Amino acid sequence: MSTPLASSTNGGPPNGLRIQFSEVEKRYGMRLALRGVSLTIDAGECVALVGHNGSGKTTLLKIAAQLTHPSRGKIAFYAGESPIPAENVKVRVGMVGHHTLLYEELTAEENLIFFAKLFGLENPAEKSRQALQPVGLAGRAGDLVRTFSRGMRQRLSIARALLASPGLLLLDEAGTGLDPEGQHWLGAAIQRLRDTGCTILMSTHGRNETQGAVTRAIRLEGGKITHDSGAGGNPREVLVMAAVRDGGEGSEA
Ligand code: ADP
Repeated sequence: MSTPLASSTNGGPPNGLRIQFSEVEKRYGMRLALRGVSLTIDAGECVALVGHNGSGKTTLLKIAAQLTHPSRGKIAFYAGESPIPAENVKVRVGMVGHHTLLYEELTAEENLIFFAKLFGLENPAEKSRQALQPVGLAGRAGDLVRTFSRGMRQRLSIARALLASPGLLLLDEAGTGLDPEGQHWLGAAIQRLRDTGCTILMSTHGRNETQGAVTRAIRLEGGKITHDSGAGGNPREVLVMAAVRDGGEGSEA
């Protein structure tokens, strides 16, 4: 199989990354965004991060993506039992953030080719064409991104995050702004990716379709973990609590 959504599946052991945060603290000036977060997420887990605005979810995701560094503490990545050297981590991690960071005046395919080259991938044109297929944009490959709807941009930024077949996918409220059909598509895409063994860490708000694949839920309050359903536990209680306390589209899971 060669499409990014399926490339890591072969029935073998999961090839997702394990990520370990140790006493991670993040300070922005006088403000502490994260207060000593210690957390291990195993390969193949699909973890939902919930909590009020400002509780530290985006900061934790940015640290996992190595877009920012902890003020104290450390973060480590493993493939199986082997630690991954810091310089090799970025190409194995895909991130979909609040901003899609696409080039408006390039076509969908040109955007992906640009990023494939940036990631140092072989056959960037072929990989880009293949990446458009599973996100449903193959028919719009030659259209400028400025003509795309919000949902189509979101799909394209997910295709970009999956270009290098990541072992860890980070999603920061990736469902926000998507219509029900887009939410449904995203939920199915996350489920398929989880089935390939990719580790997924995503912030989410209220109840939505992206939560169907979740195997574990963690709640942050004021930069600290207050609830963790744990690996192999039932995430629903933490998700229901989030829907009730933080608002969202429903109050039950
Ligand atoms: P969440 O994603 O849960 O809404 P964030 O991680 O974005 O939370 O923010 C956590 C805290 O860190 C907030 O108090 C926020 O104001 C602060 N913060 C986040 N990014 C910055 C920044 N670049 N500069 C200063 N403060 C920041």
